Amino acid sequence: MSVRKISIVKNTEKPVQNYRLISQVLFAVVSIWIGIEFYQFIAFVSSNGILGSAYRPAGVEAYLPISSLMSFLYFLFTGLIHPVHPAGFFLFIGFLAVSLIAGKSFCSWVCPIGFMSEYVGAFGQHIMKKKIVLPKFLDYPLRSLKYLLLGFFSLSIFAMSAAELKVFLDGDYNIIADVKLFDFFFHMSQFTVIVLTLLFIASIFIRNFWCRYLCPYGALFGILSLASIFRIKRNANTCIDCSLCDKSCPSHIKIMKSGTVISDECTSCMNCVDSCPVENTLEFKPMFSNIKMNKKNLIWLLIIVYSTILAGGYVSGHWKSSVPVEKYHDIYENRENIGHQ
Ligand code: SF4
Ligand code: SF4
Repeated sequence: MSVRKISIVKNTEKPVQNYRLISQVLFAVVSIWIGIEFYQFIAFVSSNGILGSAYRPAGVEAYLPISSLMSFLYFLFTGLIHPVHPAGFFLFIGFLAVSLIAGKSFCSWVCPIGFMSEYVGAFGQHIMKKKIVLPKFLDYPLRSLKYLLLGFFSLSIFAMSAAELKVFLDGDYNIIADVKLFDFFFHMSQFTVIVLTLLFIASIFIRNFWCRYLCPYGALFGILSLASIFRIKRNANTCIDCSLCDKSCPSHIKIMKSGTVISDECTSCMNCVDSCPVENTLEFKPMFSNIKMNKKNLIWLLIIVYSTILAGGYVSGHWKSSVPVEKYHDIYENRENIGHQ
């Protein structure tokens, strides 16, 4: 039985890609700013207070996902917020909450690495004049790599008791994890340079190579996004099967064949919604309701969720790490020899 199409109205809604770009640039600038402040802090620690600044930006803890996951688990076990890297704990909750509300939007609206990958991939596409999509027999096993990495970290962490988590979180290895991360990028080993160069080259040829195949954080958000409240929905009655949505999707999702997009690779980037030529055909809506959310409101949703959770950290007095700068002085020189406990 053929489905009768209702009258087609042209989609005149303005795209949101400029807003997404502003969001990505803002978060990238904040990250660079945090990096500069943390550099000043390390200069202070390494020069015994002669250079730099004693101020340590708490936002650096956004880059400590393993420590944050452990803090989160420790909180679930004990109801306590561990005082080392507490901002990481709050940021982690913010990322989880956003994934459960608006899918993997962190990856395409917030993450500076996702931002970089996107534009490196766009540059590659521009010079090659085509989009390279790996065949399924390669794409599926490669996509599973990020889940294997996530599984490896999660299994090791979820096997720990509250007491074991506390020992790790209290330890020097966790305290200095931010400095070790800084060393990783600013005093790169030859091996690191080779790996990052290979990832960069792969990202030129295959858009979002790191995000699609290797990022364990993206894997976690992808799993949570399967239960997300808001998602992309297609109205089959007004769809004209033009396939513009499929062509615009950086995650190669078959939107034209879906009623509702349920995919761990959908980053809520809104490219498909922007490219759909028919009004009210592709929309960002709650899973079990047909109430339409203006796609621009995703920005407000992100701002509200992140600022509420971060304000929670500030107001409850759990934002700043309890580690005094003297402790950093004590362990800085010996950091190469500090390992897991
Ligand atoms: S389905 Fe739409 S929102 Fe999701 S990744 Fe593809 S283009 Fe972006
Ligand atoms: S862009 Fe996709 S959802 Fe919109 S009319 Fe074309 S095929 Fe249908």
